[in-house]
Amino acid sequence: MQASGKVHLGNLLGALRNWVTLQDSYDCFYFVADWHALTTGYATPSEIKESTKDLLINFLASGLDPDRSTIFIQSMVPQHAELHLLLSMITPLGWLERVPTYKEKIQELNDRDLSTYGFLGYPLLQTADIIIYKANFVPVGIDQVPHLEISREIARRFNFLYGEVFPEPEALLTEFPKVPGLDGRKMSKSYGNAIYLSDSPEVVEQKIRTMMTDPSRKRRTDKGDPELSPVYQLHKIFSSKEELEGVASGCCSAEIGCIDCKKILIKNIFTYLEPIWKRRNDLLSNPDMLFEIVKKGSEKAMHTAAETLGTVRETMGLR
Ligand code: SF4
Repeated sequence: MQASGKVHLGNLLGALRNWVTLQDSYDCFYFVADWHALTTGYATPSEIKESTKDLLINFLASGLDPDRSTIFIQSMVPQHAELHLLLSMITPLGWLERVPTYKEKIQELNDRDLSTYGFLGYPLLQTADIIIYKANFVPVGIDQVPHLEISREIARRFNFLYGEVFPEPEALLTEFPKVPGLDGRKMSKSYGNAIYLSDSPEVVEQKIRTMMTDPSRKRRTDKGDPELSPVYQLHKIFSSKEELEGVASGCCSAEIGCIDCKKILIKNIFTYLEPIWKRRNDLLSNPDMLFEIVKKGSEKAMHTAAETLGTVRETMGLR
């Protein structure tokens, strides 16, 4: 997960929750990609530092277990950078230039100068991140599959040039719930419509109280269509079947007002987040423990990464 902002509900439900489950079936490597954040945020590195800490705390608070998974920070494992360099020698420039998101993102972030090698080479660093652990699978949503394709191509090219070292990583497809933001668009930090795990209960309550509803319900007596309300989309994730049915029929008949509807949602989101908030507070009050966990995880990652890199150097005839 890239260290370019705080963790919000969309990240929790779209990625972290799935990562927690995967720990039961796979040998997992989860890390904060702080170098990746530099590719677009090189002018504001202090934000990356803050974000790295927030991500780590939320990894652990959400249930990632350092005894079962390897949890680390990308820049604490310098082998990623060496493999990135070696891969840059064999990757045709055209492969990087034709990555679909390359031009899109340059347009989207037009307030920054992204005509840098670091930004163009982002998929290479990502490939190094994956294949240095000889990963078989990467948990992604369907829209990220093309990004993984370039990693597969680079691994294939390396194997063809020097000999079989890397498995071609496959997408471990996961269905993610659609998490709407406060304004009904996809929850995203760049839209300013997110509920963050670091928000206090008071802030979460306030955000939901002022969240967009079906615009046709201007007065309490107006009937609404819950499907047009982002509040209802969140109910689908957090509320019970009975509550969901009650909210839907109450909204259509105007028997329930938006404030009461939101109160049910607030209660359910609080129930869901309370254990996470508790673990967050424990970690925030014990920074030494957090440092120890990430230090141990990074050492463990480094051990595996160094082993792969040894094989790479040997295969390339560099040793
Ligand atoms: S009653 Fe609930 S679902 Fe219906 S518009 Fe109001 S907030 Fe949205």
